Amino acid sequence: MSRFTKSEALLRENARYIPGGVVSTNRAVDPPIVFTRARGAEMWDVDGNRFLDYHAAFGPYILGHGDAAVNAAVLQAIAEDRSLFGSGSTELEGELARRICAAAPFVERVQLLNTGSEATYQAIRLARAYTGRDHIIKPQGGYHGWHNDVSCNLMTPLDQLGPRRPGEEYPFLPISAGIPEAHQGLVHPVGFNDLEAVEAVCRKYPVAALITEPILQNIGVVKPQAGYLEGLRALADKYGFVLIFDEVKTGFRHALGGYSTVCGVTPDLVTYGKAVANGYPLGVIGGRKDLMDLFISPDASKRVLLAGTYNGHPVTAAAGIATIDRLSANDGQVYRDLEVLGARMQSGLERVLQDAGVESVVVRQSSAFCIYFMDHAPVDWHDLIENHDAKLDSHLRRELLDQGVYFFQLPVKQCSISAAHTEAHIDETIGAVAKCLASVHA
Ligand code: PMP
Repeated sequence: MSRFTKSEALLRENARYIPGGVVSTNRAVDPPIVFTRARGAEMWDVDGNRFLDYHAAFGPYILGHGDAAVNAAVLQAIAEDRSLFGSGSTELEGELARRICAAAPFVERVQLLNTGSEATYQAIRLARAYTGRDHIIKPQGGYHGWHNDVSCNLMTPLDQLGPRRPGEEYPFLPISAGIPEAHQGLVHPVGFNDLEAVEAVCRKYPVAALITEPILQNIGVVKPQAGYLEGLRALADKYGFVLIFDEVKTGFRHALGGYSTVCGVTPDLVTYGKAVANGYPLGVIGGRKDLMDLFISPDASKRVLLAGTYNGHPVTAAAGIATIDRLSANDGQVYRDLEVLGARMQSGLERVLQDAGVESVVVRQSSAFCIYFMDHAPVDWHDLIENHDAKLDSHLRRELLDQGVYFFQLPVKQCSISAAHTEAHIDETIGAVAKCLASVHA
């Protein structure tokens, strides 16, 4: 008997009105689960199942669900009638912007949007306006949202991708229908960690921007090799393209201001989202003043349109301010606590995976981790798809659901620990993984 019967029935009902019954293609996973509520590190569904959450809604919940300080700030904004005006400005917008600029010294100016996709869209447009060029480079395996420039080369199957071609670009392989052919020629996918390929594209085309996650966290946790991000910086300076770090996933997750402040490489533009507002819909674009000022250029031919009815929404702004204050408290104590939990998770997982005799590697950056069933940490998407046992990965994730642990059903999706997780939660999770591995091998 399925543990998800009510979920299945409700999803069928939803599907009479919503295509597929879900509001994002990525949510159509098996088994379908209809969630009801979440608090801290735990979530519940309509069938009464309880899960320890490591999906974190694709990353935002760094403080856990329903954080008391964030809730209080949101309720206060509503109680104080801090409405949406769609005109002028508000105190909350300014306060939030000031905190984000303080978090990352290279961020001289910010703009407040609603989603990560909007932020990356604006970053690319800004780069094109600034350079007067059209071409962009995007490492394979990075995700930057759903718009035309970046809906390509994410988890492309090997038979479409073909063999590894170091030093060369790959064809644009769309992950959506409806992207105009002409547009596709402007986007050049390259391997992550492949500086030569970036240079080869720069020699061939006038490149406006390279956009990359500094750590690929939409295919687990794929780290930059030593010198890679520095190399991108040097190539940006040499060829005059705008270096965009998409920190929608890494920003405020690994440190205030994101991985840029950890790795010491300064992008020209950065995008934030997710953890910056602990579950509320905030997208941020930030960076150098001369670039960001194109949004207000007196020269209309250079001015980049920035619009959005809900930009700077007071509820979101209040949530962002409260989140950053929580993350900054006691000189960033939350990050030190998360590092301890992350290390406990990593060593515990490594122990049970080794005991089970499963070839694997646990890759982690602070509170983000991923188990790869291969003998080394992947360096790019090719490496991953050639070597990782995705079947075992999917199987473990499915089995974990029955143990009340939610890693999300799709393979190589990164897991996130929140400040609401406890050592007992981590140990429960390690125990559940051990149990599942035993059943996999039974
Ligand atoms: N960039 C990155 C790195 C992301 O992980 C995501 C979302 N997973 C986005 C951009 C798009 O953000 P949103 O879903 O808020 O549009």
